[in-house]
Amino acid sequence: DSRGSEAPYMQIDPRLLLSSIIHDFNNLLTPIVNILEELQLRRDSTRRELGKIDAAIYCAFRAKILARQLIDFANPRPAMPEPTDMHQLLADLELVLASVLLPNIRLTLEIADRLPPAIIDQQLVERALLNLVLNARDAMPAGGDLIIAADLAFPPSSQKTLPKRMIRLSVSDNGVGMDDWTLKMAGQPNFSTKTNGTGLGLATVRQIVESLGGGLSMTSKHRHGTTIDLWLPATWASSSKGAGNRREGE
Ligand code: ADP
Repeated sequence: DSRGSEAPYMQIDPRLLLSSIIHDFNNLLTPIVNILEELQLRRDSTRRELGKIDAAIYCAFRAKILARQLIDFANPRPAMPEPTDMHQLLADLELVLASVLLPNIRLTLEIADRLPPAIIDQQLVERALLNLVLNARDAMPAGGDLIIAADLAFPPSSQKTLPKRMIRLSVSDNGVGMDDWTLKMAGQPNFSTKTNGTGLGLATVRQIVESLGGGLSMTSKHRHGTTIDLWLPATWASSSKGAGNRREGE
């Protein structure tokens, strides 16, 4: 072949490149935090200097969180879906979720009876739920109700490519809600209305559910609250209790 072979640099996956840069960036932040923490302990610093060091440490920690989220987003690990019982998943997760909430937020789990197992990667769905619960917490600074529900439902018509019936895992809050523009923008990587937001939470959640063959839909009412639905595939065939078998007869 007279054209020869392609230059090897053409084959670099931009996502791998991005994630390797962020790893290096993350590694560089560690000595920065360490040095700042040492400076914080010096006895001869003035209050003003200490205030500046605190601010720098805070920024470095924020940068570390952002780097972590970017690594997860740019280089997600492949999903390893397996049949998972939703009662079990939420029972395992309840304590973790409750630990990130203040006592002024009441967490309720509502799981429908006779749900067929979902075909999901438990760790990834847990990560998605944690992101949603943190958003709900941020939306209810004065407290409120947080409901995590799982049932069988029909995905909305906007989710055309999804199967007719799926497991709907939803996270609802009665917090600040979103106006139309925010609802439209939410989920775009980097979009955030928070002073300290990274704007990667919902984008990561969407990426996770799509890697499982599912989808995400959102409804929100400004000043009333928000519901985020995760649509997850179910194991119809292995459902022993009949809920899944109804599909064939519909
Ligand atoms: P971040 O939390 O870093 O801002 P996200 O992608 O998780 O990033 O969310 C993007 C934006 O969507 C938030 O800044 C907020 O404006 C809006 N949002 C997400 N979840 C909720 C919610 N439960 N209630 C109100 N607004 C929300």
